[in-house]
Amino acid sequence: GAVRGQSLAQRDQSLACMETLLQATGFPYYLMHLEQALELPASILRPGPVASSEPSLSYKEAPAAALTQELLKLFEAVETPTAKEELLQMLRMHLILQTARNKGYTKVMTGESCTRVAIKLLTNLALGRGAFLAIDTGFKDDRHGDVVVVRPMREYMAKEIAFYNHFFNVPTVIAPPLPTKRRDKSSIHHVVERFLLGLQEDFPSTISTIYRTGEKLSSDRAKATCESQRCLLCLCALDLDGEDELALEPTLIMDDFFHGSEPKSAYIPLLCYSCRLTFKELGPVTMLPPYVRAEAQCRIHR
Ligand SMILES: [Zn+2]
Repeated sequence: GAVRGQSLAQRDQSLACMETLLQATGFPYYLMHLEQALELPASILRPGPVASSEPSLSYKEAPAAALTQELLKLFEAVETPTAKEELLQMLRMHLILQTARNKGYTKVMTGESCTRVAIKLLTNLALGRGAFLAIDTGFKDDRHGDVVVVRPMREYMAKEIAFYNHFFNVPTVIAPPLPTKRRDKSSIHHVVERFLLGLQEDFPSTISTIYRTGEKLSSDRAKATCESQRCLLCLCALDLDGEDELALEPTLIMDDFFHGSEPKSAYIPLLCYSCRLTFKELGPVTMLPPYVRAEAQCRIHR
């Protein structure tokens, strides 16, 4: 809520809505704040199983205002809406993963519909994540090792789900989009979404055609065999050879001039092609979440 520009009252309200909804299901549930991503252990960037000695997320109360400020600063430092979307997704995924590990769950189900999967397929293509399409959008995502993410809703269109919810009175909570400044261009995520939903109106098979094309992709290429070949941020196999690294570096070396001790360019060999592009727009290294910096330092020194 904070990064989506909601006030504390609005956030409390949607949290209360969510809790009522969850209580009605009868399943156990855990509430996590995005701020808690700033206190994640570096082990989240390594595949499990993780040692139990890692510090766990301790507090259950609402996060301190200082952490919210830190989180907002992190998002403000990001230069483009596209990188903001990617950062939000990354933090959220890592937080869910850590919660699953802490509570001893080995599977996480996410709710992406067929519509969402088709949008993500084209978005990720545009973001340079072609090599990872299958693992990013497929039924099973096992890049984290001990916790497998599955997407059981991916065969249902968003419209079907909306109709189901309507006829069976399933309550929904809708999160507002990330706010954009007027001078900003829309994120790639939003452009693709608008394009596909618009096309779908006139050509109703658009979404399912894209979805079925995605089904034919193999995830073998995305699996890293060892630590040094795994992307720091998305944990997929590095899709670049040494020679290509130079292509992105000149602009980053300029940045190093201003950000002395912790050079941005040192991170580049640790990242896949797409994460390099995102990373470039993430602002100064010192603004990054502590767990990312800790794991990066560890890998750089190794
Ligand atoms: Zn990556």
